[in-house]
Amino acid sequence: MYELNICHLYPDLLNLYGDRGNIIALKKRAQWRGINVNISNVTIGDRFDASEHDIIYLGGGQDFEQKILQEDLLNEKASEIRNGIENDRVFLCICGGYQLLGKYYKTCDGKEIEFLGALDLWTIAHEDRMIGNIVFECDFLKSETCDGKIVGFENHSGRTYLGPGVKPLGKVLKGNGNNGEDKSEGAVYRNVFCSYSHGSLLPKNPALTDYLLNLALKQKYKDFTFLAPLDDHLEELAHNSMIKRILK
Ligand code: GLN
Repeated sequence: MYELNICHLYPDLLNLYGDRGNIIALKKRAQWRGINVNISNVTIGDRFDASEHDIIYLGGGQDFEQKILQEDLLNEKASEIRNGIENDRVFLCICGGYQLLGKYYKTCDGKEIEFLGALDLWTIAHEDRMIGNIVFECDFLKSETCDGKIVGFENHSGRTYLGPGVKPLGKVLKGNGNNGEDKSEGAVYRNVFCSYSHGSLLPKNPALTDYLLNLALKQKYKDFTFLAPLDDHLEELAHNSMIKRILK
């Protein structure tokens, strides 16, 4: 019997736009395959040991909440998050949860919030926000059955720039993505997958959900081979109707 331990970091603070839906999607798509799933909610003041979790998730948050958790992030959880990243734990980090893995976040009033520096990226906030539906393409998801397109919703004032140490998650087809300038969306480093896409991201993008589950299971069980296919016609209907609407 396979089992996955999923850690939801700062669920009480990084909880914008239904991002909890990503935890639900990971849990249900694993359980529908008979995989046992344990969810741990870890927030300020809680102990965190990355080696106890197979998938670690951070959702989106406003500047205000990002400031609140900064002290705990940098002083209590930073080394364990870095350990998890460098030991190839699977991370999914959305928007604010994405930004805080970078070097810093410069707010609109010029304050520089020091962040983890675990990924080679940085974010600069602007008065005008990037809000709207987004479609981007992930080459690593392309197969006979998947065109690699991902659909989501973005709402961020931060513009994120990637250094040479990370790759984009995908290429923007519609919307802004990281910064509205270089057509990059999100970031990938080792098994860390970051995106600006809320929605929440995973329910309408089953291929990405399964990719993360596969990665975590292969990391944990040397005998694990593949996830049994599911009847995804509802997910595909939602996915394809949104893509059609946004790309028309
Ligand atoms: N506070 C960050 C920004 O505005 C992240 C927002 C979010 O998580 N949606 O860019």
